[in-house]
Amino acid sequence: MTSAGRFAPSPSGELHVGNLRTAILAWLFAKSSGRDFLVRVENLDRARSGAEAEQLRDLEAVGVRWDAAVVRQTERAALYDEAIARLTADGRTYECFCTRREIQEAPSAPHAPQGAYPGTCRRLSHAEREIRRASRPASIRLQTDVVEWSVEDQLRGTYVGVVDDFVLRRNDGVTAYNLAVVVDDAAQGIDQVVRGDDLLPSTPRQAYLATLLGLPIPEYAHVPLVVNHDGARLAKRDGAVTLGDLAAVGISADSVRNLILESVGLPAGTLGEALPHFHPRSLPTEPWVWKTPRP
Ligand SMILES: [Zn+2]
Repeated sequence: MTSAGRFAPSPSGELHVGNLRTAILAWLFAKSSGRDFLVRVENLDRARSGAEAEQLRDLEAVGVRWDAAVVRQTERAALYDEAIARLTADGRTYECFCTRREIQEAPSAPHAPQGAYPGTCRRLSHAEREIRRASRPASIRLQTDVVEWSVEDQLRGTYVGVVDDFVLRRNDGVTAYNLAVVVDDAAQGIDQVVRGDDLLPSTPRQAYLATLLGLPIPEYAHVPLVVNHDGARLAKRDGAVTLGDLAAVGISADSVRNLILESVGLPAGTLGEALPHFHPRSLPTEPWVWKTPRP
């Protein structure tokens, strides 16, 4: 089994400089620790036709290369089914018939953290479950026996977060992100997960699930996001933020890569030239405020 890091974009649109920066950091983390670097397309949900090809082209344009064929989640249903079947055989899953509204309006269970699923369907009798099956397809939830879990993050230290009875498969049949990411990382030999710190709150759920499945916990490094001048997460509406838009105002992919490298304290140049200078501990801990540069 390989030892690898990865970048796992959702092909919902073009990558923006924040996504490209996370990809470059993930590559630097992987290569500076002697790992392979893989790309996985997380296309279970919100995939837009043509976006995957655009994203891979843009990664290559800023110099990111990967060491094995790109993997797509839609080709991996058997792996997710097997993991859910194993959890079910262990008595670790149950069907949930709640609507979003019912969950919001349900009184929360004693000691349950804010926003956690209140466990409504955990206690349904066989007869009650039969009745609800007739009116609404069920989602599959994990039956947990903890309320929080702790993970170690290379940049953020020890992080403790909520673990509730989270969804493994949605009621439209789509495998939930938290299950797919755990199964995929383990199956691909990914032992280093570098991604935006907006995903840190769901990491304890994933580490707990990996533990239940007997899978290794990867090393985590959650990197600060790129934000606009209001401090909000960068989005397409923030002007020229994709390689295509930036090229249209005269800024090349090489210039974008150099800006990204400078934003993490590295010299301009190729990623290979930046690599010997990369030290995770010297990364900025604050978000990068994006200003569209002048060509
Ligand atoms: Zn429910």
